[in-house]
Amino acid sequence: MNATTGIRDVIIIGSGPAGYTAALYTARAGLSPLVFGGAIFVGGSLTTTTEVENFPGFPAGVQGPELMENMRAQAEQFGAEMIDDDIVAVDLTGDVKTVTDTAGTVHRAKTVIVATGSGYRKLGLPKEDELSGRGVSWCATCDGFFFRDRDIVVVGGGDTAMEEATFLTRFARSVTVVHRRSTLRASQVMQNRAFSDDKISFAFDSEVAGLHEENGMLSGITLRDTLSGETRELAATGLFIAIGHDPRTELFKGQLNLDSEGYLTVESPSTRTSVPGIFGAGDVVDHTYRQAITAAGSGCAAALDAERYLAALT
Ligand code: FAD
Repeated sequence: MNATTGIRDVIIIGSGPAGYTAALYTARAGLSPLVFGGAIFVGGSLTTTTEVENFPGFPAGVQGPELMENMRAQAEQFGAEMIDDDIVAVDLTGDVKTVTDTAGTVHRAKTVIVATGSGYRKLGLPKEDELSGRGVSWCATCDGFFFRDRDIVVVGGGDTAMEEATFLTRFARSVTVVHRRSTLRASQVMQNRAFSDDKISFAFDSEVAGLHEENGMLSGITLRDTLSGETRELAATGLFIAIGHDPRTELFKGQLNLDSEGYLTVESPSTRTSVPGIFGAGDVVDHTYRQAITAAGSGCAAALDAERYLAALT
């Protein structure tokens, strides 16, 4: 039989900027939050990067892992409790919500803040992970600045790929958009903007077939023609992969409303989900901005929403 614990005010699932900020605010409000940070991905997406130059308060920049350790320490200082484990099952329907960890322990709370983030889709190529932050990126807003005067490839054919390509022309010498098909999925306005940019060229019916490395950095890319199978080499030293994201909402299917792409829906501008007492924050909700600061901001909003919900119960 599963062990069962007492009823908490707040449980937070996720230890990225959204989860830790929600933890800080609920801890300071005296709600003693319990945070599940994940078994292997403690600190969230920023732990997979190096320099973060766009989080306010760090004029010289800050390393991603260091920023996340600081956020955690700040929340712990006010009494947030951290368990570095995955939640594998939830029951969010009743007044008392339950979440179950990998040991089968059931934790109960009046409110749950979901801050499980989203994962960038990968190409699935050898060296892709190894070269992340070393020429390979999934976020032009985050990393474009580091690619001045470089030849860059952007993979994808949707709005995000066009937006990334157009944004990157501010820094890059050239941008090549690589797309598997002969036509783009992006909206006409985004396509027109990209087509009219002198720095952007297109490799249609093409896919990235290989990544080359020199001194630990991306040094070139092999492209394969999806129709003929022929390959050719590009001397690009930057690769931005813009083929979509997968929000981590598998656990909540059938219990919380999700949109057609699987993102958690909230009653914007609040963080209230379709179930009273459950709040959503960060990239698991956000299609659009996907930045550490916006995730932290919505984590703050979720904490305040949970606080108000709990106050109304008494
Ligand atoms: P995440 O940070 O993704 O955290 C999600 C958390 O949920 C993780 O802790 C995970 O362990 C946990 N989790 C998921 N499922 C479960 C479960 N079942 N049980 C328990 N825990 C679970 N943004 C910037 O602003 N500036 C940058 O320079 C920047 N660089 C980036 C570089 C890289 C390589 C990447 C990948 C992202 C970068 N970003 C950057 C984007 C930024 O990291 C995200 O927007 C931000 O981390 C989202 O925060 P989040 O809290 O919503 O989710």
